[in-house]
Amino acid sequence: MTEALRQRLAIVREQIAAAAAAAGRQADEVQLIAVSKTHPPEVVAAAVAAGVSDIGENRVQEAQHKIAALHSLQPRPRWHLIGHLQRNKAKVAVELFDLIHSVDSVRLAETLDRHARERDRRLPILLQVNVSGEASKEGFVVVDGIKNTTAYSAFLRDVEAILQLPALEIRGLMTIAPIVEHPDLARPYFATLRELRDDLVRRYPQTNWRELSMGMSDDLTAAIAEGATMVRIGRAIFGERTGKMV
Ligand SMILES: *Cc1c(COP(=O)(O)O)cnc(C)c1O
Repeated sequence: MTEALRQRLAIVREQIAAAAAAAGRQADEVQLIAVSKTHPPEVVAAAVAAGVSDIGENRVQEAQHKIAALHSLQPRPRWHLIGHLQRNKAKVAVELFDLIHSVDSVRLAETLDRHARERDRRLPILLQVNVSGEASKEGFVVVDGIKNTTAYSAFLRDVEAILQLPALEIRGLMTIAPIVEHPDLARPYFATLRELRDDLVRRYPQTNWRELSMGMSDDLTAAIAEGATMVRIGRAIFGERTGKMV
């Protein structure tokens, strides 16, 4: 298992380096997040031994078991929550994660802020944006980006509300592109997220909007071409998921 994992990891790192080079970027501008959902703690430990520093999970409960099982793992990986977060799990999420990619409403942000203040910590977050309009996707809905003035104004009001929350630290945006026939067809969605980010930088320059969390196993090259700073890679590293969840 470990040898196969090392080989797949090497291939993913080469893909990231090649995509960055093609876009005139440095490979180290793109953080690899290995998405270990459905895989047991031993697999995460093997990935960390192979040099992975950042682990993504999409469910709080599953992550809670793994983080507990791996509490003495060295070096300690950073844990990222990439899946939808229910407000009743916000308290636990604040205890567990280094970065929450999936903040998708002002109410959730307010709940996270309250728990972060109780724990006396500042919580780094990304705002998840649904740029495709697909009903199955979570996130602030901003189809067509800044051109869609009605949706964009509503989003800006939400951003301003979240910027007021003292314990939250916005670091950027996250999106999930639709499943498409050819990865190049996902590029416009990634481009829209980057456009939104660039506009937010102009409007709120005191906030650090650096991160663009976008790109998965099938579309990482397209995402890096459009400026991804974090790619979330599951199957290409760990193989097909065998567990029950998606
Ligand atoms: C599962 C998941 C990924 C990884 O997907 P792969 O196709 O396995 O690379 C990335 N982002 C989110 C939000 C996910 O849920």
